[in-house]
Order: sequence, then structure tokens, then C-alpha cells
Amino acid sequence: MVTAGKLAELIEDDSVMEAESIEEADRECPDCGGDVLKVGYMPSVTEFVTGWKCQDCDWSDTDRE
Ligand SMILES: [Zn+2]
Repeated sequence: MVTAGKLAELIEDDSVMEAESIEEADRECPDCGGDVLKVGYMPSVTEFVTGWKCQDCDWSDTDRE
């Protein structure tokens, strides 16, 4: 099982300062229909991002504008 910090790093493709616990997202992967995990994290002190990552493929998304 991937940790919240590791999942956030996969989404961000970079290290993150802090990550909340992983949740099961209430959505399916748009690419493969797989289960999606959700994690809130802070890539920097001033920013909080919610990210999503598919468990079955490389798809990921964030709530950044
Ligand atoms: Zn997928």
C-alpha cells in the first residue's frame, strides 16, 4: 500500500512537504475506469492541493486552476 506522501509525490512528480491521509475518491479514472485515490497535500508552505491518482494506470489530476 502506497503512503499518502508517496502518492502525493507521484501526483506532483516532485517531493511534497506534507500529505493528509489517502481517501477513496468518489470518481472513476477517465482513462481506464479504475479506482481513484484522493489525497490532500502541501507542495509548499503556501499551497494546499487536492490530488487524484488512478490505482491502475498513470492518470492523475489536481484541483489547481
Ligand atoms: Zn486509470
